[in-house]
Amino acid sequence: MELSNEQAERYSRHIVLKGVGIEGQKKLLNGSVFIIGAGGLGSPAAMYLAAAGVGTIGIADADSVDLSNLQRQIIHTSNDLGRDKVLSAEETLLSINPDITVNAYCVRVNQDNILDLISGYDFVLDCSDNFATKFLINDACVKARVPFSHAGISGFQGQLMTYVPKEGPCYRCIFKEPPPDGAVPDGRQTGVIGALCGVIGSMQAMEAVKYLIGEGELLTGCMLTYDAMNADFRKIKLPEKVNDCSVCKGR
Ligand SMILES: [Zn+2]
Repeated sequence: MELSNEQAERYSRHIVLKGVGIEGQKKLLNGSVFIIGAGGLGSPAAMYLAAAGVGTIGIADADSVDLSNLQRQIIHTSNDLGRDKVLSAEETLLSINPDITVNAYCVRVNQDNILDLISGYDFVLDCSDNFATKFLINDACVKARVPFSHAGISGFQGQLMTYVPKEGPCYRCIFKEPPPDGAVPDGRQTGVIGALCGVIGSMQAMEAVKYLIGEGELLTGCMLTYDAMNADFRKIKLPEKVNDCSVCKGR
């Protein structure tokens, strides 16, 4: 595959970049990322991946755009209120970059559909907002041997880690089980600062880009935490894969 003149111009700041170049850009154009959640994290992640020329972006979310989303979910605008989030997201992504393919699914990801949805994708982003979905994504990605970036945000705090098959622990190795329903307040109750979603979602996009181009260090085997109020980033080394983990054991 050769880059067209238009692609050479559009991606020129990647192409001159040591570590990306024409070969790296081709890897992005041939790459695919599936994003679960078109909300606070999914918005910046999807927009940066689209702008970067990641050739195929899948995105799943069952919700429609609500006024209370717009404080942080920057892929949607006031004109999108009431629309399916994935359709609003698809329109924004293609307006940023018509050079890519977007596969939009207005579904809630569940046990029955997740393996079909992520099948064939190179990398998955967990941009979900609840523990049940985070464990579901982990278990499916480990089983399907698909690398993924986990992220979570609450208030002024964010965290992320990356799972790559055979490298480092999975999300379940660390957190074992979802907390009981109601034990941890959700975003509706605690709130979340908008720009935090931009920081953490953009870092998820960065993990996907590094994985696709095969350069740099991923957040495998460690958890990066960000305390936005105190401008404090920490990279915490995680324990090795847990031997009796019910999901990644033997994988
Ligand atoms: Zn595990």
